[in-house]
Amino acid sequence: MRAGVALLALAGVAHAESKKDKELAAKSVCKAPIPAPGTKPAPLINFYNEHTHEWLAVEPDKPLAPGELDLFLRDHYTNKSTTMEPRLAGVLVAAAKNFKSDIVDVVSGFRHPKYNLMLRKKGHQVARDSQHTHGNAVDFFIPKVTTQQLQAWAKAQKLGGVGLYLESGFVHMDTGPIRFWSGD
Ligand SMILES: [Zn+2]
Repeated sequence: MRAGVALLALAGVAHAESKKDKELAAKSVCKAPIPAPGTKPAPLINFYNEHTHEWLAVEPDKPLAPGELDLFLRDHYTNKSTTMEPRLAGVLVAAAKNFKSDIVDVVSGFRHPKYNLMLRKKGHQVARDSQHTHGNAVDFFIPKVTTQQLQAWAKAQKLGGVGLYLESGFVHMDTGPIRFWSGD
């Protein structure tokens, strides 16, 4: 009799455990619908900042998080940022896509008026009221793409100003009035 009671008790324990297991198993089952097969995500485009040496990986078809571009294109001299013209991110992505590159090298984004003035005093080719000081301009290049090729593409975008800096090896683009120039 004793053995029988023990056996029953054991069976009870076993039963309790299996019930608990089932509950646990039920909880771990994913309730979300099975996702539809997707398409392969587009490769990331990586912005590199020549001054801060920072990288910003961008999903080409998704807008950037608020403030991300502002921080990335901040003035490296004063470490201050401004609200950048949001179309500039799209411009950099479009340029990278056009030349099938996953890297865009940024030479200059926002320039704080203090930094702009310092550049002017040092004799750099910098406009007094540069579009850079308004957060409307970006200077950049794409590795393995000639500056002339990039300039031709930039002009065709009809975004605004396009400057060609052959010796320095970059193109300036801004969202101001459409105008073209070249510097060193
Ligand atoms: Zn510029």
